[in-house]
Amino acid sequence: MTADDASADDADSDLDLDLVELAKRRGFFFQANGAYGGVAGFYVYGPQGASLKRNLEDAWRDRFVTREGHVEIDAPTVMPEAVFEASGHLDGFDDMIVECPECGESHRADHLVEDATDIEEAESIPTDEVEALIAERDLRCPTCGTALADVPVSEFNLMFGTNIGPGTSSPGYLRPETAQGIFAEFPRLKEYARGQLPFGVAQIGRAYRNEISPRRALVRVREFTQAELEHFVDPERDDPDLERVADVELPLYAAPDQEREEGSVEVLTVREAVAENVITSEWVAYYLGVATRWYERIGVDMDRFRFRQHLSGELAHYASDCWDAETEIDGNWVEVTGFAYRGDYDLSKHAEHSDEEFTVFRQYDEPVTVERATVDPDMSYLGPEFAGAAADVADALEDLAAEAPDAFGGEDVTVEVGGEPYVVPVEKTGFGVEEVTESGEHVTPHVVEPSFGVGRLVYTVLEHAYREDEVDGERRSYLELPPELAPTTVGVFPLMDKDGLGDRAREVADDLRAAGLSVTYDDSGAIGRRYRRQDEIGTPYCVTVDYDSLEDDTVTLRDRDSTAQVRVPIDELPGRIAALRAGGGTEFADVGDPVDGGAGAGVD
Ligand code: AMP
Repeated sequence: MTADDASADDADSDLDLDLVELAKRRGFFFQANGAYGGVAGFYVYGPQGASLKRNLEDAWRDRFVTREGHVEIDAPTVMPEAVFEASGHLDGFDDMIVECPECGESHRADHLVEDATDIEEAESIPTDEVEALIAERDLRCPTCGTALADVPVSEFNLMFGTNIGPGTSSPGYLRPETAQGIFAEFPRLKEYARGQLPFGVAQIGRAYRNEISPRRALVRVREFTQAELEHFVDPERDDPDLERVADVELPLYAAPDQEREEGSVEVLTVREAVAENVITSEWVAYYLGVATRWYERIGVDMDRFRFRQHLSGELAHYASDCWDAETEIDGNWVEVTGFAYRGDYDLSKHAEHSDEEFTVFRQYDEPVTVERATVDPDMSYLGPEFAGAAADVADALEDLAAEAPDAFGGEDVTVEVGGEPYVVPVEKTGFGVEEVTESGEHVTPHVVEPSFGVGRLVYTVLEHAYREDEVDGERRSYLELPPELAPTTVGVFPLMDKDGLGDRAREVADDLRAAGLSVTYDDSGAIGRRYRRQDEIGTPYCVTVDYDSLEDDTVTLRDRDSTAQVRVPIDELPGRIAALRAGGGTEFADVGDPVDGGAGAGVD
């Protein structure tokens, strides 16, 4: 990887450069390893960004874990190869790559096609068709302009590989999604849920994908944070409480609408979407409803938001129905969350590849008596007859008796072992049918998965919160972040650092910190400048300690968006700001007495 590769990131033509510049200057995010030329696809969250990201994760945890009654785990990021053999990632987690024969630069073949045509999801098109489109449209290497017609398009696996311990005998991979850390531990996790469905397990953590061409700052990176929930349900018995979200309006861009020329987003309530079968899984519909309200809460502009259904060729190897939440950033639609009905795919695969049971016991309402076919093969016959294959033939007979007892109706029965047919006289199989009473059965749970990309949401929230206006004849830019998410909740300023104003302001800042609020103290420059600095990082409230404060123990509290100011007693300040931050209907104008002159008056 070269510095050129890294700088391609910043040269991204559709990047919002104002925002990226602000992010760097004010400490939200910046490209990592700058001192060494940088490597594309790796970003540092600076002090403001790390705080914003943490607040966003806390808001997610509150909504998708705590309020849903789910639990959270923290699993390793390096996992052995066997996990990804089972999950299908080793074979199927690929993107289409085309390598320029002239400059050697690699590109996402499907993205080249998307950029040059009006095809929106070229990854759903087979590789050879993408190759043909590149030739037909005479597409060229974006780096050096060389024609890419006739250059083969191949599959590139996105997992970062490593070796566990010395030597190469134990290959491992950095997890490409946090989900596998939950699925692989299901046998133990179900114990914590006392074997009772439904239950949900969440994880917020790093995932790694060796993206062919990282781009658009936090949008496509090689190391990122996911917040994933795996909700295990009994497909026959568990239904979501749809009434809780039935009236939530969903902007749905369904697959048939994407395929129709004049198709567009249609707004349906959760109730309508399910009734009209636009969303086939009630569980997916439930989470789209829950998530819609959550996106509003974290400040996503819902006029630049939609749920897009996956086209059939685009569905991941595990999903039967999948909707992406997409936000419009920098003029492009970007997937911020995937909502997938994964069925029993993951748990069945791990059961197949491991020695553990990935099922739960479903108790019947009443015990039932059933007929069960059994075999008791005569090994003194099977041994000499089938030698080394005898034990496998016996196992195969047992499986066949369970699955297709009618096969034992004739004189002989045939089973297949290692691709070879073995014919056994039925009288040597010990076949019989017995009556047994069963109290339940083992079932493999189905999985509903909302999978959120935290970095893409951070970027969305910043982009959607960016505002410019004019205050007192001066242009200002500010971030209209929800107070819950803002990296800093309060800026505290002394009017000047003299006559005891600084000491009093520091005491006020300490009291606010002791109340659990995130506080910045600033005594440098004119008050107006200090407000601007906080506005730019989205600090919702600022407190100014002035000469009156020393007399009457009140301070000025200023609101970021309206620049309105009220006067608040110092001892009431922590409680009132905490109430504002918590939302719940507290209005800024109600937390103090208006300052003469109205909004923006005085020191702003
Ligand atoms: P997926 O498993 O591909 O559906 O990804 C789940 C979520 O992870 C997506 O909705 C994105 O928000 C996020 N994500 C996937 N790949 C990347 C990436 N390369 N960089 C940043 N976020 C990503």
